[in-house]
Amino acid sequence: AKEKGQNKVQIHTSSMDIESYKLFNLESDLRQSLELNQFELYYQPKVDGTTHQIVGAEALIRWNHPKWGLVSPQEFIPLAEEMGMMYKIDRWIEQTVCEQNKAWQNAGLPAIPISINLSANRFLENNLMSDIMGILSKTGLDSNYLEVEIVESSLLENEKIVYSILDGLQSEGIRINLDDFGTGYSSLSYLKRFKGKINTLKIDKSFIDDLSETNEESSNFITKSIIELAHHLKMDVVAEGVETREQLKILQDFKCNIIQGYVFSKPVSTDEFAELLRNEKLN
Ligand code: C2E
Ligand code: CA
Ligand code: CA
Ligand code: CA
Repeated sequence: AKEKGQNKVQIHTSSMDIESYKLFNLESDLRQSLELNQFELYYQPKVDGTTHQIVGAEALIRWNHPKWGLVSPQEFIPLAEEMGMMYKIDRWIEQTVCEQNKAWQNAGLPAIPISINLSANRFLENNLMSDIMGILSKTGLDSNYLEVEIVESSLLENEKIVYSILDGLQSEGIRINLDDFGTGYSSLSYLKRFKGKINTLKIDKSFIDDLSETNEESSNFITKSIIELAHHLKMDVVAEGVETREQLKILQDFKCNIIQGYVFSKPVSTDEFAELLRNEKLN
């Protein structure tokens, strides 16, 4: 920030000022980011822990800022939400994922479902179903190859409304993943309330971080129980943020079949992901 003294301009460069300068610029830059084509989707494989085959992927947005480089979605999404830009960005994501997945299928690559993250706002948006159905028919992607990831807080709204949205998505063949499972306030009560309406639980990374062969009884037990509970309720389980072979092995012992994490691959660019798909199996 600049401050006029008697006869000179003082420039403060405290980190607070840099932060607010950066924020100010991010906001005005964000306004043009879509038109300037600065968004990019990265894809992270979901992998069968036993065969190492790619069984799906999650699309994760990146903002390629010309000056600041890759800006994390955790940084710009709240800003975009505040600025009322998120609906446009969401539509761009939905369109791009469906188009890309269809293009990969047309190119003869293995057909896999790709999930998109839906914020609570997007999930509860009246147009969600018609927007998505429109994009599916325009791109020609079969609805079985699109999945959604929602967080527990999306389920907090009016139970009837939430139920009808989940039901609508499912009846079109779009599977529902419950993201960051276990980190909310009443994870278990949601499972009871929306029984049958959630296809996959994604166990949050914080539980995976705790897994260790040396502390079997205590912290491994929670993860083991979540996996058993999910299977009992006929849901799939994805372990998120799996980084080590040790974690992988424990998860296999617990019969958690789908693994997502750096142990197999970080989220990668479109071209890199096509390359992974072409090879089908990861090491
Ligand atoms: P999330 O949906 O829980 O996504 C998982 C995050 O964990 C991703 O971070 C991913 O890169 C990271 N990750 C995956 N495996 C590992 C691992 O083994 N170790 C570590 N340390 N991290 C791992 P990312 O891409 O930075 O996204 C952060 C969050 O931003 C996402 O959390 C999601 O809440 C939000 N987000 C990302 N893309 C989108 C999007 O397209 N739409 C919306 N609405 N939100 C998005
Ligand atoms: Ca997610
Ligand atoms: Ca997650
Ligand atoms: Ca998360």
